[in-house]
Amino acid sequence: MTETKLNLSVTGHWIDGREARTGNSVTDIVNPATGTTVASVPDGTAQDVDRAVDAARAALPGWASTSPADRARAMQNLADRLTERSEEVAIAVSAEIGAPITLARFGHAALPPAVAASVAGLAAEFPWSEEIANSLVVREPVGVVGAITPWNFPLQQIMTKMAPALLAGNTMVWKPAELAPLTARILAEAARDAGIPAGVFNVVYGRGSVVGEAIVGHPGVDMVSFTGSTAVGKRISVLASETVKRVGLELGGKSASVVLDGADLGLAVERTLASAWTNSGQVCGAWTRMIVPADRRDEVVDLLGKAAEQYTVGDPADETTRIGPVASEAQWNRVNGYIERGVADGATVVVGGPGRIPGLEHGAYIRPTVFADVDPDSVIAQEEIFGPVLSVLTYENEEEAVSIANNSIYGLAGAVFGEPEHALRIAKRMQTGQVDVNGAQFNVLAPFGGYKQSGNGREFGRLGVEEFTEVKSIQR
Ligand code: NAP
Ligand code: MG
Repeated sequence: MTETKLNLSVTGHWIDGREARTGNSVTDIVNPATGTTVASVPDGTAQDVDRAVDAARAALPGWASTSPADRARAMQNLADRLTERSEEVAIAVSAEIGAPITLARFGHAALPPAVAASVAGLAAEFPWSEEIANSLVVREPVGVVGAITPWNFPLQQIMTKMAPALLAGNTMVWKPAELAPLTARILAEAARDAGIPAGVFNVVYGRGSVVGEAIVGHPGVDMVSFTGSTAVGKRISVLASETVKRVGLELGGKSASVVLDGADLGLAVERTLASAWTNSGQVCGAWTRMIVPADRRDEVVDLLGKAAEQYTVGDPADETTRIGPVASEAQWNRVNGYIERGVADGATVVVGGPGRIPGLEHGAYIRPTVFADVDPDSVIAQEEIFGPVLSVLTYENEEEAVSIANNSIYGLAGAVFGEPEHALRIAKRMQTGQVDVNGAQFNVLAPFGGYKQSGNGREFGRLGVEEFTEVKSIQR
């Protein structure tokens, strides 16, 4: 097993550039493919947060006074150090959330250094200061940033915060997800090895209700950058209001893939299924509602059935596996409950369905599922499932297609398939932070974030750096 190749356990937080031991209890990290404990990390306290915030505050003046060019070099170094350790990252993520090893290598491990490098490349053109009439407008760091992240892309979720925040001269205290903290030490060591000074980047492991809330409420933290569920995002907004902190929220989604008349149905099916099922559907921007012309419903369903056969479910350590388990037994129960709900509410099961997979009863394996004939107002069409479940909905005319796509409290991502100009017109009408036309490539420089209850900030690219700056106008 891959999980025995590395010792992933850590005995302390990472504060002021080194391991900070604690006498606390530990949290066991469980591989959802096997149910076995693969490592443990400390279960932090509010006092651990105090120490980390002290270190971040002490490091702030020095780091903030370095030049953007120096900080950009540090972010490029960070990318290089992480690339050197990418196999360790892949094994850790595969063990903690059950990600298939191939996806772990090409997604979980490869994307974070690409993001760090892209951020390094922004420094030269960034408007650190500009003249506006008689004003000199300067962008300064916000200060100490508290980062709180989910388990679905453990290293990627922190990198979209760490690289822009540090480039802008901030320091950071990070709480990784309790379920998936095993790349945090690798990242902290990579930061040290990249020449990022002690105290600039600190890690405190622990629970959201303890360590997370201590960060959000801390008077020494100037901004909270959160990625996770909408429910927790709301709670964080309330807690942060006590100290009028800036809050960046990247929350849940229920994104639509709109298929127009004239679309390449084969392409639409292939890309939409991949979006809905990759990483066992545990992707915030996944296109989980496929909205198709009523008179093409049978054709689409037929193609989805065939495309689904390509998705081998199984042991994440096997290089041919395309779908592993979901991240935990708790997640299995939640997702399976939604599949049962879809059946009970009268949706047609095209592929999958509730229950365990024969031969894979001992891990958190969900049957990847496609539903057709889904009512746009039903629970499975409205709530974020966060598992490998795609719903097919039909429309009679284009107005209806747009209104079904926008019939959501969320607005994170989406897709349109069709003749390019036509698809662009529809993309402009979607109330969502991203739309991909005809399966276009992901762009690490394009702002990513939510309309409506999917959040209030943007990550990636220049806008992702702006989020971590204060603006000062000096009149002369
Ligand atoms: P979650 O339950 O909201 O947890 C996210 C993080 O918040 C975890 O580190 C969690 O700690 C912490 N937390 C929980 N309660 C807290 C509190 N009261 N105060 C401060 N921190 C608290 O989300 P999840 O289940 O890990 O991740 C799935 C969700 O994230 C989905 O809704 C998904 O859509 C969303 N997501 C959004 C994006 C985006 O970019 N928009 C990207 C990925 C995921 P624990 O680990 O102890 O629970
Ligand atoms: Mg786990």
